[in-house]
Amino acid sequence: MSIPYLDDLVVDGERVLVRADLNVPLVDGTVGDAFRIEASVPTIQELRRRGASVIVATHLGRPDGFDPALSTKPVAERLGELGGFPVVHAPAVIGERVEATIDAAGPDVVVVLENTRFEAGETTNDPFVADGLAKLATRFVNDAFGTAHRTQASTVGVASRLPSAAGLLLAAELTAFDRLLSEPSRPYVVVLGGAKISHKLGLMRALLPEVDLMLVGGGVCFTLLAAGGYEVGDSLVDKSMVPEVRSVLDGIHGSKVVLPEDVVVADSFAADAPHRVVPATAIPNGTVGLDIGPAAVEAFAPVIEEAERVFWNGPMGVFEWESFRAGTQGVAAAAAASGGYTVVGGGESVAALRLIGRAEDIDHLSTGGGAGLALLEGAALPGIVALERWG
Ligand code: AMP
Repeated sequence: MSIPYLDDLVVDGERVLVRADLNVPLVDGTVGDAFRIEASVPTIQELRRRGASVIVATHLGRPDGFDPALSTKPVAERLGELGGFPVVHAPAVIGERVEATIDAAGPDVVVVLENTRFEAGETTNDPFVADGLAKLATRFVNDAFGTAHRTQASTVGVASRLPSAAGLLLAAELTAFDRLLSEPSRPYVVVLGGAKISHKLGLMRALLPEVDLMLVGGGVCFTLLAAGGYEVGDSLVDKSMVPEVRSVLDGIHGSKVVLPEDVVVADSFAADAPHRVVPATAIPNGTVGLDIGPAAVEAFAPVIEEAERVFWNGPMGVFEWESFRAGTQGVAAAAAASGGYTVVGGGESVAALRLIGRAEDIDHLSTGGGAGLALLEGAALPGIVALERWG
């Protein structure tokens, strides 16, 4: 089934509700890395150019009801700065006060709604929230790739109530993942990191038959090492996943999985903990693995650089802490140097590329973590499926 894109939607003189994914990190109440906001600007600018008045909805963090610390206000301000258009912030997500803000703002001002997750019915796709959002506009554009794998009132709910289309960012994301899935070029190398093996195992299962090599670092590699019978000290291990991990590793494609040969271990899980490099197969008791080691980077880098297709998701270590950043930066540099088609997803992987100033050298920087994983697993994304009725 096909979905409609921005060009298919008549928007001149219309009120268009754009569901963006402006879920950015906040540092002391201000926007940290604004990558997702930057990526959302072109759709809004295009709609304005075509004569639409724009209302923007996004979630921010995981509030449990109203939480002033997770207001979209700083996000709205940054959106206006980056987009170069006037912005006002609405005091709520739906309801009369929001409708009044939109009426008062007039057609030239972009209205950014309050955090959609302040409404309890957002994450359950409650009809009350979907109706309230649909009442604000006459058209709907979904540009929130990062949320496309979830069924929410502001994505799936509104799309069944207003003529809808995919925004420019969503379209670019789908094109990139489609290319990754369909292009025959080889070697095809996938690099996986991050913390939660439960989130990555489905992808491992789905992609192992397709790829030439799968390089695994980050917290997830310790459950794989434990499944292989190695001691991993106090490193992150999801014991409940060990049998399933074993079945993947012992399967016919298990030999394609490459684990780091060395890791950086620390005396405790702390930014300033004393640390050293040890072989991954000899992690001392009482230590915790927080990054892949230099030999692992040296082994991973040429594989990534020489690949013709690369997908990377998840940091190689606790990237937030400077002492455990080198592995992720090494992989980022290799992905940037790769001559193949490169797609990178997940907040920290993208942040690592931006930090080393090599973001421009990646073919597609994805705004989605879980949504990209779901697409590559072959899952239908509810946010996309909801657009099909207008296709
Ligand atoms: P994910 O959302 O699954 O991609 O996980 C990202 C998180 O994984 C980041 O916050 C990292 O700090 C964390 N992480 C990466 N390596 C490790 C590790 N060795 N131990 C614990 N957490 C890790």
